[in-house]
Amino acid sequence: MILRDCDSEFLDRLAAILPQGALLPPAPRYLEEPRGRWQGRAGAVALPRSVDEVAAILRTCNSAGVGVVPYGGGTGLVGGQISAEGPVPLILSLERMQAIRASYPSENVLVVEAGAVLADVQRAAAGAGRLFPLSLASEGSARIGGLLATNAGGVNVLRYGNARDLVLGLEVVLADGRIWNGLKRLRKDNTGYDLRHLMIGSEGTLGVITAASLRLVPRPAREGAALMVIESPEAALRLLALAQARLGDAIQAFELISGAGLAFLAETMPQIRQPFSQAPDWMVLIDLGLPKAMAPEDALEALFAEAFEAGLVQDGVIAASLAQRTEFWALRESIPEANRRIGAISSHDISLPLSEIAAFITRAGQALAQISDYRINCFGHLGDGNLHYNIFPLPGRSRADHAQERDAIKTYVHDLVQEFGGSVSAEHGIGRLKTGDLIRYGDPVKLAAMRAIKQALDPRGILNPGAVLADGEMQRE
Ligand SMILES: Cc1cc2nc3c(=O)[nH]c(=O)nc-3n(C[C@H](O)[C@H](O)[C@H](O)COP(=O)(O)OP(=O)(O)OC[C@H]3O[C@@H](n4cnc5c(N)ncnc54)[C@H](O)[C@@H]3O)c2cc1C
Repeated sequence: MILRDCDSEFLDRLAAILPQGALLPPAPRYLEEPRGRWQGRAGAVALPRSVDEVAAILRTCNSAGVGVVPYGGGTGLVGGQISAEGPVPLILSLERMQAIRASYPSENVLVVEAGAVLADVQRAAAGAGRLFPLSLASEGSARIGGLLATNAGGVNVLRYGNARDLVLGLEVVLADGRIWNGLKRLRKDNTGYDLRHLMIGSEGTLGVITAASLRLVPRPAREGAALMVIESPEAALRLLALAQARLGDAIQAFELISGAGLAFLAETMPQIRQPFSQAPDWMVLIDLGLPKAMAPEDALEALFAEAFEAGLVQDGVIAASLAQRTEFWALRESIPEANRRIGAISSHDISLPLSEIAAFITRAGQALAQISDYRINCFGHLGDGNLHYNIFPLPGRSRADHAQERDAIKTYVHDLVQEFGGSVSAEHGIGRLKTGDLIRYGDPVKLAAMRAIKQALDPRGILNPGAVLADGEMQRE
């Protein structure tokens, strides 16, 4: 793949076809990412206001051979939005394309532009008396284009699916500037290959998403939450099965929280109220959304009583108000920040078949103990089989003290995930962080098909070079 730098000569050419102010020097925020792993570079940031401007930008970049990094809210955790190596690219930010284009409450559909921030989309859905159920801790910054490009997960996957499951149609600009208008609002449309699902999760390497038809759902009439103490992840899974048998898909989220996570919160964010006087080794956050006739407190109390009787739970607290439910969620969603303040040696966003989770946690813990003494914070969206399995130094030591062990830890954890039939990227994607993992663990036939698709849709390799499929070495013209 031969690309050229996004230099001043090219920028002059681009500026000539765009309105004034559509090209800016890159502010530092475009070159940083949440975990500070990479420092990005870019010739400029393009800030189009319409799909036609996006098309003009891509056409010009494609004919010149300039790389383009599509950019949403910059909250991605695998470096997909950050280009640190190779020819200097153009950043293409969708932030000026934030319109809610249309609302169809009777169809449960909202059509939005890719630069809309998730929290704004949730508010627009609420304004239409509906729910857009995608929800994650970065929802105040992450934008629809980025969320779809990474097929984001979040806390409600158990009930409503991943981002992919909430999309009916897309508008996408291809590498050569052609606009695919796939903004349909259909639940059924079996007319050949589904480009929508190809684009979703492609992390900006196959096209630039400019708008989406999103699927809304009715708002639950009553919502509630409980924290329940369990002895082990295995007990948590048995509790999940019991809860699903009793409450079906009223369970919106089922989150595992470890004693290590609570200890990190106490250490770094003492203002967050801990629910139990003595921090348990494990607990779960169960979130319910129910039709009007049922009170969530009653449903959770009945579940707790039955689980207690069966020896599955030892203690629990049921939110007495929506404010307390919010407090439970604030605790859960502060764990990533507490982790960041402690400083992980190695972090893993993995998924496993549900019935293998308990065995995986035991095996991984035992094997890591052979390497050194660590603190492990294993938490996440247990109902989806998605764990954030993160490894930290003991108090008084730093991540730098373990720098030599990092690669061995990562390989060990990922090999074990593979052995258990899991995935080494559950919800964050491949980006630039996991390109090696994709090759190591990816099925060769799938990889060959992915390369052929990339070649067909982006033959010059201008879209997000170095992300996802990084095996063709990038060269400067
Ligand atoms: C505190 C915190 C909590 C998080 N929690 C979760 C979680 O629970 N679940 C989860 O799945 N993720 C989570 N994330 C990760 C992140 O929020 C998601 O990956 C999100 O989908 C990224 O959206 P963004 O708009 O910030 O995209 P960016 O970071 O800007 O970009 C991400 C990728 O998408 C591409 N892209 C961006 N816009 C477009 C577009 N319009 N067209 C094509 N490609 C595009 C970029 O090139 C890049 O490859 C979390 C992140 C943080 C910081």
